[in-house]
Amino acid sequence: MPRFDYLEPQTLEEAHSMLQEHGSRARIVAGCTDFLVRWRTGFWTPEFVVNLLHIPGLNMIRFDPADGLRVGALVTIQDLEDHPAVREHYPALATGATSFAGIQVRNLATLGGNVCNASPAGDTLPALLALDTQCRINGPAGERWLPLDELFAGPGRTNLKPAEILTEFHLPAPPPNSGSLYIKHSPRGAMDISSVGVASWVSLESPGGPCLGARIALGAVAPTVIRVPSAEAMLQGQALTPEVINAAADEAQRVATPIDDVRATGNYRRSIVAVLTRRTLQHAAAIAGGADTSFAAQRRLAIQTAF
Ligand SMILES: Cc1cc2nc3c(=O)[nH]c(=O)nc-3n(C[C@H](O)[C@H](O)[C@H](O)COP(=O)(O)OP(=O)(O)OC[C@H]3O[C@@H](n4cnc5c(N)ncnc54)[C@H](O)[C@@H]3O)c2cc1C
Repeated sequence: MPRFDYLEPQTLEEAHSMLQEHGSRARIVAGCTDFLVRWRTGFWTPEFVVNLLHIPGLNMIRFDPADGLRVGALVTIQDLEDHPAVREHYPALATGATSFAGIQVRNLATLGGNVCNASPAGDTLPALLALDTQCRINGPAGERWLPLDELFAGPGRTNLKPAEILTEFHLPAPPPNSGSLYIKHSPRGAMDISSVGVASWVSLESPGGPCLGARIALGAVAPTVIRVPSAEAMLQGQALTPEVINAAADEAQRVATPIDDVRATGNYRRSIVAVLTRRTLQHAAAIAGGADTSFAAQRRLAIQTAF
């Protein structure tokens, strides 16, 4: 097994200088759930591993009705799932977390790690995209904010610069009469990577009224998670009738470009995109209209298996 030096910076500044000093020979880690798999198989062979877990301030979750939700990069998927404000105001993110792996992995895996791993099948990514997330990035040259959709450069690749660290996510405050949901489809439920994941967010003028805005994000059907602006535009200003929702779902299916792999064929994935887009839009609209938003009810919807 390749060996490495293990480093535990206590501040962001210390982490930056370690990353600058060791350059491409160093790799950031947080919960290590992706790292350990790739290190054991020899896919990643860093000489220095820089663990962020001791840097204070990166594992907070704060909700303010005016500002929205701030989530530190080191927040675990389990803490995200358990947080009352996430469950109440950001159902797509809560259902993204609840459909994620088993409880052991959820207790280690961080939100920052899931995003920086940049897998198109990452379960929190469609929700974060549908919820219009901004990423705070700290590097040796200072701080910058980047919309999440500009972070991804391809499968497993981000636009982070050398020695930059993703530190925080900001999700805008939900407007009145808005709702969202994520649904994962996988052969073995939460215990497997998603073969398709869809998150939808809608905002209504009033309960049952026309749609003021919508965002639809697809996972595992393109090289990165993607939004579907053409389908979103079909909902804008419309009453969300079954016909309107079906037309948007068909458009999402048209836009998806999935590949065949061990989990599903591309054709199967494409047909699932339409099903999950339709269901997430229906449930997001129902939540926006004041339907039962209990987490137990959302959780029942969040994972769809093939069998
Ligand atoms: C058994 C198992 C089941 C899994 N099931 C799922 C699943 O159902 N759904 C799913 O989406 N994923 C799943 N995963 C993948 C994994 O758990 C997630 O991607 C996890 O969120 C990664 O977080 P981490 O903190 O463990 O990241 P790490 O493994 O520590 O790091 C992952 C990557 O992100 C980089 N990184 C981490 N934090 C930062 C940061 N703050 N700034 C910059 N770069 C950073 C690292 O350099 C590395 O490239 C599973 C993994 C395992 C082993």
